[in-house]
Amino acid sequence: MATLLDGKMMAQEIEDSLKLRVEALKEKGVEVGLTVILVGEDPASQTYVGNKEKACARLGIRSNTLRMPADTTQEKLEAAIMEANADEKVHGILVQLPLPRHLDEAKALSLIIPEKDVDGFHDVNTGRLCRGQDCVVACTPKGALYMLKQAGIPLEGKEAVVVGRSNIVGKPMALLLLQENATVTVCHSRTKDLAEHTRRADILVAAIGKPRFITADMVKEGAAVVDVGINRVDGKLCGDVDFEPVSQKASYITPVPGGVGKMTIAMLMDNTVAAAEKKVQG
Ligand code: NDP
Repeated sequence: MATLLDGKMMAQEIEDSLKLRVEALKEKGVEVGLTVILVGEDPASQTYVGNKEKACARLGIRSNTLRMPADTTQEKLEAAIMEANADEKVHGILVQLPLPRHLDEAKALSLIIPEKDVDGFHDVNTGRLCRGQDCVVACTPKGALYMLKQAGIPLEGKEAVVVGRSNIVGKPMALLLLQENATVTVCHSRTKDLAEHTRRADILVAAIGKPRFITADMVKEGAAVVDVGINRVDGKLCGDVDFEPVSQKASYITPVPGGVGKMTIAMLMDNTVAAAEKKVQG
């Protein structure tokens, strides 16, 4: 039976240490500030933004959510980003994705000052991650890696398979595992015989967006399984991994909910506090 990698508990520990860092900044006269730009009324986005606001409140971070209507023009969105860029009190800026279709997401993200890009989606940050240089790392893969390392799971020389190649999860996850000296395979929807790859994995990361897609027969005995997926089935959340049968075979597994999702928010807070600390250090 697999050991549960408890995202809730790990995120709590991170928050506890972040509170001290926020306090230390306050003593230096700096109040950490995060601006979230939310365009439109997508219910999932509203929930995510609400969770981010709550996390800021718990930690004493000043959060400001700019709620813009669904028909916001590119010009107006860009003006809002530029304003937050120029605001000395704002240390982190986050544009909640997805944006409505008429807006140019890549252009909007490229306007955020890289130092304030707490989502780690700016070209400068993704480029630096690719080169193994110091950068702001995307929150979800950063959180997933934290869980593996916190549990003391060896990564060096291990076979790591990431299923999914999105810019926000799969690709940065693969790069982070590569930095840890794992041997990394990235699978996607055109991969032939997916199970042949996943069955070799000592570390298996599922970031697909298909409920319970990774079944026990696709998993190596004793593997560490990280389930990034968040799917809603009959009103209930589930991951991309068929949790019960896979946990009989794996040595470690992350639950959904209470796994990587909790870590994503904790890492967003960590990136925001780190941005403020860097600014203070100059
Ligand atoms: P995307 O839809 O952007 O990417 C999904 C990836 O899965 C693509 O690379 C796609 O391949 C691949 N894929 C789809 N079908 C298959 C298949 N049959 N076999 C192999 N690969 C397949 O999703 P995201 O990366 O944004 O998110 C993935 C999941 O993680 C979602 O459930 C999302 O909700 C969740 N998520 C969770 C977060 C958290 O905080 N825990 C944060 C962000 C996302 P291809 O490129 O070929 O299309």
